Amino acid sequence: MGYPFQLPELGYASDALEPHIDTRTMEIHHGKHHQAYTNNLNAALEHHPELHSHSGEQLLIDLSAVPEDIRGAVQNNGGGFVNHKLFWEIMAPNGSNFPTEEMSGLLNGSFGSFDQFKQTFSAAAATQFGSGWSWLVVDSDGRLQVMATANQNSPLSCGCVPILGVDVWEHAYYLNYQNRRPDYLAAFWNVVNWTAVSEKYSQTK
Ligand code: MN
Repeated sequence: MGYPFQLPELGYASDALEPHIDTRTMEIHHGKHHQAYTNNLNAALEHHPELHSHSGEQLLIDLSAVPEDIRGAVQNNGGGFVNHKLFWEIMAPNGSNFPTEEMSGLLNGSFGSFDQFKQTFSAAAATQFGSGWSWLVVDSDGRLQVMATANQNSPLSCGCVPILGVDVWEHAYYLNYQNRRPDYLAAFWNVVNWTAVSEKYSQTK
């Protein structure tokens, strides 16, 4: 839960999301990038025992409570730790391509239709300049919203709870898709685990 943070298991094999997300990308993304965020978060917290009982999410929800000398490191590496944990959870091999009935109703209500939601989410991801993420979040009023964040910034730090996210750092897609971020985003929908997204939504209630 808290310090020292451990790299979460993927929950499926590195090749399970082929051909949409290739094995080598998954191996490096999980085993190297996510591991580095985990190690760097632990290094930042090492001399701050008062924060050792906090979860990654708790640290990000109230960054102002994190001492200034490590705040940037926690924002970046705590964000990296928590964001990737969610990312692995909301994907699955042969992910159901359609939201659960409950999510479908919520997406229709908030965005007009499932297709409109996908367009809004993908547009936020495609136009995020440089590195970052696109998210489906539950805002502080309980409404669904699409937002993008730069770098490893988490929606948790602005009062929103992410329930779906896509990583648009080049390390997430460059080996297979090179500069074709829109192709990666189109493929992403094939591996979304809508059951997990629904569960994350329920946990916000
Ligand atoms: Mn990443």
